[in-house]
Amino acid sequence: MSFPSIDQIQGDFDVIVVGSGLGGLTCANRLSRAGHSVLLLEHHDQVGGLATWFKRKGHTFDVSLHGFPYGMVKTCKKYWNKAIRDSIVQLKNIVFDNPQFSLTTTFSREDFTRILQEEFGIARTVVENFFATVGQMNFYDDHSLTTRELFEQFFPGRSDVHRLLMEPIAYANGSTLDEPAITYGIVFSNFMNKGVYTFQGGTDKLIGMMAEELRQNGVIICTGAKVDRIVVEGGKVRGVAVGGRVISAPSVVSNSGITNTVNNLAGREAFDSAFLDRFDQVKVNNSSCQVYFGLRPGESFDNVGDLLFTSTAREFSSDEMLDMETRSRTFSIYYPRTRPEHPDYTVVASMNGNYDDWAFLDKAAYKAAKQAMIERCFVDLERYIPGIRAQVDWVEAATPRTFNRYTLHTKGTSFGTKFEGLGISRSIFKAVPGLFHVGSVGIIMSGWLGAINYGVIVANDVDSYLRS
Ligand SMILES: Cc1cc2nc3c(=O)[nH]c(=O)nc-3n(C[C@H](O)[C@H](O)[C@H](O)COP(=O)(O)OP(=O)(O)OC[C@H]3O[C@@H](n4cnc5c(N)ncnc54)[C@H](O)[C@@H]3O)c2cc1C
Repeated sequence: MSFPSIDQIQGDFDVIVVGSGLGGLTCANRLSRAGHSVLLLEHHDQVGGLATWFKRKGHTFDVSLHGFPYGMVKTCKKYWNKAIRDSIVQLKNIVFDNPQFSLTTTFSREDFTRILQEEFGIARTVVENFFATVGQMNFYDDHSLTTRELFEQFFPGRSDVHRLLMEPIAYANGSTLDEPAITYGIVFSNFMNKGVYTFQGGTDKLIGMMAEELRQNGVIICTGAKVDRIVVEGGKVRGVAVGGRVISAPSVVSNSGITNTVNNLAGREAFDSAFLDRFDQVKVNNSSCQVYFGLRPGESFDNVGDLLFTSTAREFSSDEMLDMETRSRTFSIYYPRTRPEHPDYTVVASMNGNYDDWAFLDKAAYKAAKQAMIERCFVDLERYIPGIRAQVDWVEAATPRTFNRYTLHTKGTSFGTKFEGLGISRSIFKAVPGLFHVGSVGIIMSGWLGAINYGVIVANDVDSYLRS
């Protein structure tokens, strides 16, 4: 789908959305359905933000389509459309393989209950109490309990159980054992509801369907349109500066990261010192590294599972997972059924990563570090798909620098900010009337489901503001 350039845009709008991640797209869609005129501006030449894909040598690689909770079914039907909902399918073979245990699961409450009893020897009542406790966690609880304390309460000294429960969530939202247990509990419970799901047809199909609905609802989308500034005058939002001019709107929703939004887009001068004191406590979440493998046409491999949580590290450790030379990674295996119209075998290895480890390498060191990462992934992948090295015709790596370049996110963050970012995002419109933020924050409001649901919440705030 092609979009108009920023020079072709005329007039004012009720709302300008800065950024086309899943939060920005959903917010724009809701606001247009509510009758507001909406302009959506995206700096990249493709919409979707981190929900993205790229094509190489006939392969399409999905960047963040590894798995989401069942809640996406209801959310997509309610806030997008039935066709999108109908493409959501379950990933049934989730594999864990590490020195402490090897198992295959549907990643559902029922199956985890069985595994915890049969393979880890935990009493059923303990398992049920644990599920009941995490299932009841909500945002308004006391946040002083950490995930480590929660695990110790139910499974004292059981580092194997802690790993089973924590490792997937550390990949899914970057949370660690020392963060508020709620950041773990909400996301874990979402997955445990009914397992892990994916979008059949791939990210390109999903984003194409969303862009088409936005077009039908009258949202004007411009790609290649980097917003330089959110214009704040007399304490209120007046519009955005983009492409050398100002486009007016009484409200702006920033889907750029919250740190970018405050420091660079609105500018710190737009906020009072009490807000900035709170904002300066916000820590950005980690970034990611990935290695993409594409199989030569005609090559294939047997079913080895859909999502493989693999590690050769002795125990779970968030620091180990962030190390440049981590021995922990997930492999997402995409079989021809992922895109039935363009059958292909691809594999994406994902690792957590720290921006600062990669940011300051010179050109040669950066190239060598990427090559070494590719090699480590090959060695691990060959344990599951022997001979894959000879089968691939494309291999490429992405690092935190890549994520930073394409999304502009501070330090290439994959999941926005740690917990304290949520309060800033939720209160920004009180600090500067007309300014709203949507997108990954607070660990909870991240991932495909979190970003879409947050888009709906923020659209309601904007709608109330515009009508008041
Ligand atoms: C490697 C990786 C794997 C992941 N895997 C999964 C997964 O399997 N399941 C899952 O649920 N989630 C996954 N996620 C997380 C998920 O993709 C994100 O949480 C979600 O897509 C973020 O949506 P968002 O609304 O926060 O916006 P983002 O996707 O962060 O998009 C923000 C957009 O704003 C644009 N922008 C920024 N500044 C400007 C500006 N000044 N002007 C114009 N445009 C601007 C950016 O270009 C970008 O398009 C993964 C993330 C990563 C990085």
